[in-house]
Amino acid sequence: MRIVVSDCLRGIACRYDGGAKPSGAVLSLCAKVEALGVCPEREAGLPVPRPPAEQRDGGVWSADGTNLTSAFAAGAQTCLDKARDCGAPLAVLKEKSPSCGPTCVYDGSYTGRLVKGAGVFARLLQEEGICVVNEDVVKACKPSVEHPVAIILGTGLGHLASLVRPVRRIGYHDIEGFPAEARPMEGHSFEATIGSVDDVPVIVYPGRIHLYQGYSAAEVSALVRHAHRLGACDIVFACATGAIEGNAHTGLGIISDQINLTGRNPLAEWDEIRDVDSPFVDMTDAYSPYLRTLARGVADDAGIAVEEGVYAGVLGPCLETQAEAAMMRQMGVSYVGMSLACETIMARALGMNVLGLTLATNMAGDGATHDKVAEVAAEHADDFERLVRGVLRLL
Ligand code: SF4
Repeated sequence: MRIVVSDCLRGIACRYDGGAKPSGAVLSLCAKVEALGVCPEREAGLPVPRPPAEQRDGGVWSADGTNLTSAFAAGAQTCLDKARDCGAPLAVLKEKSPSCGPTCVYDGSYTGRLVKGAGVFARLLQEEGICVVNEDVVKACKPSVEHPVAIILGTGLGHLASLVRPVRRIGYHDIEGFPAEARPMEGHSFEATIGSVDDVPVIVYPGRIHLYQGYSAAEVSALVRHAHRLGACDIVFACATGAIEGNAHTGLGIISDQINLTGRNPLAEWDEIRDVDSPFVDMTDAYSPYLRTLARGVADDAGIAVEEGVYAGVLGPCLETQAEAAMMRQMGVSYVGMSLACETIMARALGMNVLGLTLATNMAGDGATHDKVAEVAAEHADDFERLVRGVLRLL
């Protein structure tokens, strides 16, 4: 996988003050991918050190009053050309910089005040459709023993649990909020394993319960709260779905967004919601663009066929009618299923980074049987395993 990285995050002393801002998490990522280091300001021929520059009135000005708008534009364009040439789907750029900052920049007053917005180079990459993140995103997604990656597996995908080098096992019935009477469906197991996969700390939950079994939205999201209590920052949800004709095919998919059609919301049933600052959880980019891009990169490198699309969560348990499938097609839905919607809402409420992976086992509206789901899951088991392991290795 190729990525574009701000040179100063790689430890290169190219900043206006003559220094660098190396990030351990970014350096660790760079060691696992093909990283193209860029510095738009150096490409513009600006000296090191130099007076600080900030964006103001649609241009870029240095603290000594020099108009640097053209220089910044030229440097950004040169770096964009390099990014295009290398075909990188991801850029990790230094936040706050008038060139590289992905989400915020200084406000032009040279007082240290920040405003929402992007640097000149970051903007070009975003317009190009490249996923641009800052160093904090990479750091926040980096697992450790204190922050294992949580993986919740669905029907036919539970075999991934066998890859874990176990340290400890936890029966679901010992998990707070998980219903004591629940029994696993065929293909699910109710024992979580804490351990590692390829030396990456994980906690794997090889099964789940569903709203359609009569459980509440709070109960179906109990595993998410458990993972969060154990320190997980990243959470991977995997589930079987139906593909919506015209928008997706059967096979592996990366979930880009969701529409909650279950009519339920775990936050409305969660006592702790009364204690949080605001119950209005931001669901923008609910499925982490960074994790999605890593998954796409792993799939491309490994020759794994994946599509990407919007997931619609429905209550179930009956499958969709043809009219419902047609409606979802119009709504832009690619995958329909009965598991993720509440889990993802809870994970976002807890500030977790979500990656949603699905195996579309049938076309929605065509019917599906448990045997068929298991059969298709078995066909894609190797690819699914390679995809998840590939993402874990990059984190
Ligand atoms: Fe770092 Fe980008 Fe500024 Fe260069 S232009 S010093 S890479 S933030």
